[in-house]
Amino acid sequence: MATSATKTGCCVVGGGPAGVVLGLILARAGVRTTVLEKHGDFLRDFRGDTVHASTLTLLDELGLGDQFAAIPPRWIERARVQYDSGTYSFGDLTRLPGRHKHIGLVPQWDFLNVVADASRREPSYELIMSAEITDLLWNGQRVSGVSYVQDGQTQTTGS
Ligand SMILES: Cc1cc2nc3c(=O)[nH]c(=O)nc-3n(C[C@H](O)[C@H](O)[C@H](O)COP(=O)(O)OP(=O)(O)OC[C@H]3O[C@@H](n4cnc5c(N)ncnc54)[C@H](O)[C@@H]3O)c2cc1C
Repeated sequence: MATSATKTGCCVVGGGPAGVVLGLILARAGVRTTVLEKHGDFLRDFRGDTVHASTLTLLDELGLGDQFAAIPPRWIERARVQYDSGTYSFGDLTRLPGRHKHIGLVPQWDFLNVVADASRREPSYELIMSAEITDLLWNGQRVSGVSYVQDGQTQTTGS
């Protein structure tokens, strides 16, 4: 039995890269959006640390390039391998098309925090942490929301 029920326009389940970016785009499009993430923060299992040139371009398009650069990442332009016989370059990212001719090295949670911080500034956006989705709500054959557990309480959000 749900202890509280809130209204939203769109539920995004999971605050990984896909969920936080989708949440930002939907909120900026004026959709009342709720992103629900089961963990209490983004500091969890290792998920890699390379932010590729195409993602850097996406961040520019979202207007977040400067915030990301301010973390700051470690910029990598070339990959090298060291053998006894010497050091050899095998990847030259400066030849990539577009503005970003490098990759950025940052923990994934720093990337997620940049996007989530921007999302929180959107009036139609809500990020609920420590919220584990346990079920879907149905209205006939249409999914109309989710139920989730937060602090041991079952709650619902949807349309
Ligand atoms: C070891 C490793 C190294 C990697 N290195 C890189 C790298 O260097 N560069 C790179 O670009 N990519 C890397 N990746 C890939 C990258 O991590 C994934 O592509 C990316 O995380 C996928 O994003 P996502 O949002 O689709 O899913 P996820 O990141 O898996 O996010 C899903 C989210 O949903 C939440 N969730 C799950 N179930 C529920 C529920 N019931 N209720 C609420 N929330 C829920 C999870 O807690 C999670 O936060 C790596 C992956 C791994 C495993």
